[in-house]
Amino acid sequence: MNRFEEYCTKFVQAVGSKDGAVSPAITSSASFSYLTPEIAEGIFDGSIKKPLYARMGNPTNARLESIMAEMDRGVGAIATSSGMGATTLAVMSIVSMGDEIISIGGLFGGTYAFFSETLSRFGIKPHFFDVDDFDSIENAINENTKIIFLESVGNPNMKLPDIKKIASIANKHGVLLIIDNTTTPLCISPLVLGADISVYSTTKIISGNSSALGGCAVFRAINEGEDKLKSPRYEFLQKFIKGTGKIALFANAKKRALRDFGMSASAHASYQTMLGLETLPLRLSRISQSIEVVSSELSKNGLDINHPSLSSHEHHQRYLNDFKNGCGSLFCIDFKTKEKAFEFLNKTKLATLTANIGDSRTLALHMASTIYRDFDEATREFLGISDGLVRVSMGLENPKDIIKDFLQASR
Ligand SMILES: *Cc1c(COP(=O)(O)O)cnc(C)c1O
Repeated sequence: MNRFEEYCTKFVQAVGSKDGAVSPAITSSASFSYLTPEIAEGIFDGSIKKPLYARMGNPTNARLESIMAEMDRGVGAIATSSGMGATTLAVMSIVSMGDEIISIGGLFGGTYAFFSETLSRFGIKPHFFDVDDFDSIENAINENTKIIFLESVGNPNMKLPDIKKIASIANKHGVLLIIDNTTTPLCISPLVLGADISVYSTTKIISGNSSALGGCAVFRAINEGEDKLKSPRYEFLQKFIKGTGKIALFANAKKRALRDFGMSASAHASYQTMLGLETLPLRLSRISQSIEVVSSELSKNGLDINHPSLSSHEHHQRYLNDFKNGCGSLFCIDFKTKEKAFEFLNKTKLATLTANIGDSRTLALHMASTIYRDFDEATREFLGISDGLVRVSMGLENPKDIIKDFLQASR
């Protein structure tokens, strides 16, 4: 079934309540009281399912987490303070000093810097490969490799990875696969295709209107019989598998990352995020349609457009096969020089210039002078950041208005 239709029903039904307050309650208490010491003991040993302390979760976050887990076919989810918080949670719950991470594709700048600058300070070695460099990816796996990481849609290089193929490499070698699926399961379902953890910046298309910073990590179930994670490579995980069974990846992240690092979501942000989820299918289906029309029209008018819906794109076939509901809100325009790009950004009347994506409004930004300004030339080239590159996030406006505005601005 068309995922937009499927999720229209699911989200509004899951967010609203039929008993009492229809809109989700915001529980903004930092701490939670225990009526008796026996109850306190039960909450701490996990036998009583009640809130413990807001760093470890609260009822508003729990509601969002159950919707996110269900939409991604996971066994558990953890809401976080931001998308980077979700990536940090997932990664830091798995790696130790001396480990290696294989990172595939043109990454979001924050994730690239986290791997290359910060994790390397802690003795964790990142390797970076192009999405289609399968041999190098496989050859780079050794006994220290703990994570393969990729983005389901390259931001901003617009490359689409062959997720099934990379998952089969990860499974063959018993390595955990994390996918940044900020583009949402309405476009593609990483856990169904073989990933172990998916992470989201809910700040983007899920909230959808710049009202809440947030993130979420969703975890797959550990299999009852054989499972690649029941191996010495993930020795630290074995006690969680013994103690908590199929939710071990989730339980490990909750203790080893959420509790120890504290990237916890706020109840207010989770509330805003749920309001966003209610209308996500409507917004995303409109954006997916608009983006194809706008990309094609601008391209016909001589602009250098990067979007996989165009037949000239290297991953057009993957777009048609794997992304039947589109691949999110992004496309790029290469103006060749910084001057031309700035001229366009000064002349557009509709685009809002900001570092965000997935908003109700159309957004645009020159990449090299902003998000990617700290990276050297070779890194920028690898990430697909050319001098004149403008990233656009398609909004809900009438696509004809955007086409008209962008054409006048690029003249
Ligand atoms: C924005 C973004 C992030 C980081 O999310 P924040 O909520 O800003 O921390 C991670 N991955 C992708 C693909 C993003 O677009």
